[in-house]
Amino acid sequence: MYGKIREHLQKELSQIREAGLYKNERIITSAQDALIRLDSGKEVLNFCANNYLGLSNHPELIKAAKSALDSHGFGMSSVRFICGTTNLHKVLERKIADFFGTEDSILYAACFDANGGVFEPLFAEQDAIISDSLNHASIIDGVRLSKASRYRYKNADMADLELQLQKAQDARFRIVVTDGVFSMDGNVAPLDQIITLAKKYDAMVMVDECHSAGVVGETGRGVTEKFNVRGEVDIITGTLGKAFGGAIGGFTTGKREIIELLRQRSRPYLFSNAIPPSVVGAGIRMFEMMAETSELQKRLQRNTAYFVSKILEAGFDVKPTKSAICAIMLYDAKLSQEFASQLLEEGIYVIGFYYPVVPQGEARIRVQISAAHSHDHLDLAINAFRKVGKVLGVLK
Ligand SMILES: *Cc1c(COP(=O)(O)O)cnc(C)c1O
Repeated sequence: MYGKIREHLQKELSQIREAGLYKNERIITSAQDALIRLDSGKEVLNFCANNYLGLSNHPELIKAAKSALDSHGFGMSSVRFICGTTNLHKVLERKIADFFGTEDSILYAACFDANGGVFEPLFAEQDAIISDSLNHASIIDGVRLSKASRYRYKNADMADLELQLQKAQDARFRIVVTDGVFSMDGNVAPLDQIITLAKKYDAMVMVDECHSAGVVGETGRGVTEKFNVRGEVDIITGTLGKAFGGAIGGFTTGKREIIELLRQRSRPYLFSNAIPPSVVGAGIRMFEMMAETSELQKRLQRNTAYFVSKILEAGFDVKPTKSAICAIMLYDAKLSQEFASQLLEEGIYVIGFYYPVVPQGEARIRVQISAAHSHDHLDLAINAFRKVGKVLGVLK
């Protein structure tokens, strides 16, 4: 039986290779940090991690993880509702809610699961989900798993959102769903206007804060802080896998009854393992650090402003950003691959993004700035971009 499908798969794989779209994974032999070592032995500056606050290898988090390993062991060997809930899990859920100014929260193995498990328990045939066209794959999949009617509006386009809300007026319940920061462009959802429209058309609001939590807003509380609407959003989802230490784990936080029902009905919560104590312990310490100071957020914001201004000055075409993501547009997929590999030669690790991760003909290099980057790191990257930009004819 396998013979036939093998041929089919080999053909598909060679088509991916021929199109220059094959994703090769580079091997890292050090910890995740601003400076990393590759298996070639080469040391490079990392500009493509979601390590926004530089916490992925932070000594305080490693210490907290070790301490939880000692007190609560390695694994839970259970889903939460059978025998997978420790006192640590409950503390972390409380801290997440306090951070976002919400009523309660629920942990998942990843935000992919949080988004995958949030719609189906809450919305049925009579309901409507109105989703931004650039929302993350996990939101798209989560929406598919519910029986609600689906409406899509153009990215951050409020006129189109209003139109879709009007179309959905017959539904029993409506919810508008958006990423906080759109991960391929770095723009921010206009949450103040979304909330105004949601009020006008009697809809709930859900925001995925994966790329905005820890990053956006003066103290890094995310887009609800940026637009001064803390407590007004019904559902927030997020990850521990990006700014918040980068290990693993996701969460949904918001109104009490919503969280309570998710604990009863959300399939990725009911049928998948509890996150391990070491990750939970480090998460608790991380939110304590967030409550003590926003120095890391401030450094990240300074670093990003500096990098973006210098890249624009060099003459690159950059998507307008309101986050720590800087999308440098090259448009051509192969060019983006070549650009990234020449940057690696210069000691700068970034990745070329192209279809299907971004639309056809919109290939780019996505740079992600970190609080862990020093001023020298940023200057080295800017100089390398200038050099490769000239060699490849992107800059004059
Ligand atoms: C990364 C990301 C996710 C998935 O988070 P994981 O915890 O890695 O599963 C979901 N939504 C958005 C917007 C993301 O950027």
